[in-house]
Amino acid sequence: MTRSVLVLNSGSSSVKYAVLEPDSGALVAEGIVERIGEDVEQGGVADHAAAMQVVFDSLADDGHDLDSLGLAAVGHRVVHGGPDLYQPTVVDDALVARLRELAPLAPLHNPPAILGIEVARRALPDLPHIAVFDTAFFHDLPPAAATYAIDREIAEQWHVRRYGFHGTSHHYVSEQAAAFLGVGTDTLSQIVLHLGNGASASAIVGGRPVETSMGLTPMEGLVMGTRSGDVDPGLIFYLWRTAGMSVEDIETMLNRKSGVRGLGGEVDFRVLHERIDSGDGEDSAAARLAYDAYIHRLRKYIGGYLAILGTVDVITFTAGVGENDAAVRRDALTGLTAFGIELDEHLNDSPSRAARRISPEGAPTTVLVIPTNEELAIARACAQVMDA
Ligand code: ADP
Repeated sequence: MTRSVLVLNSGSSSVKYAVLEPDSGALVAEGIVERIGEDVEQGGVADHAAAMQVVFDSLADDGHDLDSLGLAAVGHRVVHGGPDLYQPTVVDDALVARLRELAPLAPLHNPPAILGIEVARRALPDLPHIAVFDTAFFHDLPPAAATYAIDREIAEQWHVRRYGFHGTSHHYVSEQAAAFLGVGTDTLSQIVLHLGNGASASAIVGGRPVETSMGLTPMEGLVMGTRSGDVDPGLIFYLWRTAGMSVEDIETMLNRKSGVRGLGGEVDFRVLHERIDSGDGEDSAAARLAYDAYIHRLRKYIGGYLAILGTVDVITFTAGVGENDAAVRRDALTGLTAFGIELDEHLNDSPSRAARRISPEGAPTTVLVIPTNEELAIARACAQVMDA
């Protein structure tokens, strides 16, 4: 029987699942269970254990019973691996305990992942469960890039460093970019722009990351759907002291009420463009500012990475916005011809689900759009653990 892997991405109110065959790359089934923790009478799902049952029921509805799927492992996306977890790791009680200790580093993301791991282990006790960390790819960032210029003893004691996130995607997409060009990652210097609801950039030389925009938490860097990205840390103390906001209020604001939603009242770039195009009124101006601030920050990072890399062989756009929004891609890279970066307007404007080049043939820097596939990358990481 062809082996498959169940990949789970457990958030606080949703669980995304996919069943994939790591060897062929085939996607067997996928779905999302939402509204976890909401009133069951109103169509909510009571808790993560109930959500796991919904996953099994959905698979059964699609004609997949657990025996026929040939599941060989369950792969769990874990956002934060902290200072010492970065290899894909078989889950045991000790690992769960370690993840609990790490929860303060990722209070919004790791606790639901732990819940997801626990209910899945109970539901599928005979399968290996493997944790794959979103921080893994960036574990070996050069010290100069990984270090915050703060008191060294405090940083060491509390494991404060730049960890980076979306690592599974940056790794996968940078490998796909090399494969698209028919070369090894070892020959390329790359910039990868993962622009989804969360957004991050990375600079990669010879297959190894040398910079990334997210830091201790997934809040640093680019303007995102609902997260601020970079702010002056002084802003936190100012709001705490002067506006009487609690630490929790400020954290919620920076995570959920900021970014393009905070500025433009909307996370979805399709709606944002409609509002901008409608042309008049406060909503349109707010949407315009949100978009402009998003592009401005993105260009600031691209420029910074150009300086770090010197020459860039390939720039790749990925995730929901990066794969679909031609205007974002154009506005991110316009006016950079002097650096060898150019887009072919026609190629950029032609929608597609496939990996594709959008720069003119022969341009010094190749610009690509490559769909990310974190689930497949996790399934493959699990297969590698099982084969080792
Ligand atoms: P997540 O970070 O949740 O995985 P995705 O990578 O799926 O997010 O990105 C979701 C975002 O992609 C949406 O909020 C929306 O802004 C954007 N998006 C999706 N489709 C399009 C499209 N056709 N045009 C522009 N933006 C799009």
